Amino acid sequence: MNIHEYQAKQLMKWYGIDVPNGQPAFSPEEAARVAKDLGSDVVVVKAQIHAGGRGKAGGVKLAHNIDEVKYFASQILGKKLVTHQTGPEGKVVNRLLIEEGSHIEKEYYLGVTIDRDSAEVILMGSPEGGMEIEKVAAETPDRIFMEHINPAVGLQPFQAKRLAYNMGFPEKVAGKAQKLILNLYTLFVEKDCSLAEINPLVLTKENNVVALDAKLNFDDSALFRHNEIEALRDESEEDPKERAAAKASLSYVNLGGDVACMVNGAGLAMATVDIIKFYGGEPANFLDVGGDSTVEKIAEAIGIMQSDGQAQSIFVNIFGGINKCDVIAGGIVEAAKLVGLKIPVVARLDGTNVEAGRKILADAKLPMVHLVEKMEEGAKLAVELAAKVKEGA
Ligand code: ADP
Ligand code: MG
Repeated sequence: MNIHEYQAKQLMKWYGIDVPNGQPAFSPEEAARVAKDLGSDVVVVKAQIHAGGRGKAGGVKLAHNIDEVKYFASQILGKKLVTHQTGPEGKVVNRLLIEEGSHIEKEYYLGVTIDRDSAEVILMGSPEGGMEIEKVAAETPDRIFMEHINPAVGLQPFQAKRLAYNMGFPEKVAGKAQKLILNLYTLFVEKDCSLAEINPLVLTKENNVVALDAKLNFDDSALFRHNEIEALRDESEEDPKERAAAKASLSYVNLGGDVACMVNGAGLAMATVDIIKFYGGEPANFLDVGGDSTVEKIAEAIGIMQSDGQAQSIFVNIFGGINKCDVIAGGIVEAAKLVGLKIPVVARLDGTNVEAGRKILADAKLPMVHLVEKMEEGAKLAVELAAKVKEGA
């Protein structure tokens, strides 16, 4: 799960990390009020979306008086911001962060994440922070310094010291930088983050070390023990289908194509995505219905898949083990009753109770349902049916 910059800054503040004074705002009038309260010579108006690259896309503006704050706020709010992280469709800005402008001496990069190769938390720091960090990583990776953290002992002070040194902090603020690095690591561990990133981390003209940007991602599997983080969720930033699927305890990832798939087991789901590609189609999603399917859950999954007109066909590819084919078939029939089948469904069922499952579908005589025997046959047909809809459109 992702949260907004202003929320991440609040959390960082609780962990002793210096951040600029600021408040969120939802209208130009509120932005002006917040700016007046801040009373600083320069006020920064920042679009709050779950994506970076805002600066280059016009989502971060420096204002020198209240009229400018109001003007920038009205320019940014309600508009779509397209950055290199949002994809071409962009994201609509519904919130702003209004904060004090910092007097920047130098920008650095600092990040914490999990390195899957070593199975350890890893700290990354660079003297080349700011809006070009992707370029630094691609062209001069030796300018990014790493510290691997042994999970048994945690981040050691000497490692924080070494990283601050490598990042090039001047002697007089090295202690502040070290403390900040230790604090960010503690936040990362205590809140079960998957990513904690400050870019830029800045040295100010007043010799403070301040987080000017803040990004925190959380491990979804650990959210059950962090109600305080769950409360920060902004549903308007999330894919509505992924959201509905999570509520129905389905593992669903939107892949953007037009052949939807409903599969049991992550391995078979991957193979299904592959075979759709093999036959020239584009999978609309990855969906693992899990091993404890009920008729209601299957009906819900079909409802989600056809909810927004993206998918043009559905390939149901089930190998019944713990799941039973008759339950899956019952779910398809139930979905037809409840929400109606708006797009063709190709069903390939095999395994436990396959005969009963096929009979349920055959007896229901649903014109949208095509029953097939083999996975190859089903994938091919689902791709063809989706293509046909597209041609007709
Ligand atoms: P993004 O990473 O989405 O582009 P940032 O929050 O990093 O957004 O802002 C982009 C740039 O704007 C920063 O690199 C920094 O130079 C400047 N900036 C951001 N916040 C402030 C601030 N409070 N004071 C001064 N400059 C800022
Ligand atoms: Mg940034």
